Amino acid sequence: MIPLQRCSVPGATQTLLTRWTTRVQEAGATAQAAREQWTRARAAKDQVKQLLESMAHGAARCMYCDDSRGTDIDHFQPLAQAPLRTFVWPNHLLACSHCNSNVKRDQYPLSADGSCLLVDPTADDPAEHLFLLLKSGEYGHHTDKGRETIRVFGLNRPDLVKGRQNAFITACAVLQRWHALHQDGDPDAHRYAQALLESPFVDVVHTVTRIQPDRAAMIVDRQTLPALGPWRSLYEAGHIRRAEHTTAS
Ligand SMILES: [Zn+2]
Repeated sequence: MIPLQRCSVPGATQTLLTRWTTRVQEAGATAQAAREQWTRARAAKDQVKQLLESMAHGAARCMYCDDSRGTDIDHFQPLAQAPLRTFVWPNHLLACSHCNSNVKRDQYPLSADGSCLLVDPTADDPAEHLFLLLKSGEYGHHTDKGRETIRVFGLNRPDLVKGRQNAFITACAVLQRWHALHQDGDPDAHRYAQALLESPFVDVVHTVTRIQPDRAAMIVDRQTLPALGPWRSLYEAGHIRRAEHTTAS
């Protein structure tokens, strides 16, 4: 899970969302009313999905697992619990159908003081709550919120752990190639940088970019080590950024 910047909603879309919220309210503000209105709100959902896809990384990947294509609009706070937040933009995230329907479902754990115990990548910095162990591919937690996030989103399910292990190997190989081209002043270096930033499991690339220099030798191999400093410097200076992507798959 990586931090994502939530974009603002165009005025016309906000008007549409407000109109649908009014309809939910007029229909009794129940979970059933929310579900019925959500089913009917095709134009609103299309617009929300386009906005979410523009915020997601790579080919509109799931904002929770960073692996599969984000196909569903997830209600971060489930509409069964908060019918009046069904059409509220900050409550919408892009999820793959597996994360949305098979893993998270209607879970929304709360702490004793009533605050949400799930990391919202568009509102929280996941790194405050979670850390990724690059070699094992597993997430660990710094906080209760991190622990519940791993549990509810199934972040350590075997397919994701294996995928991250493979992504780490691939990321190191691509970084080495990027570094060689970058040193030669070859413009193809840009394509390798984009391939890294748009890859599935971009949380692995995100974590590699943030390896502390004094720990790098313990985490990456000797061949990758020289690439890390230049990559991090250019990334932090804003010279390496993912291209604005379209919403096409
Ligand atoms: Zn997912």
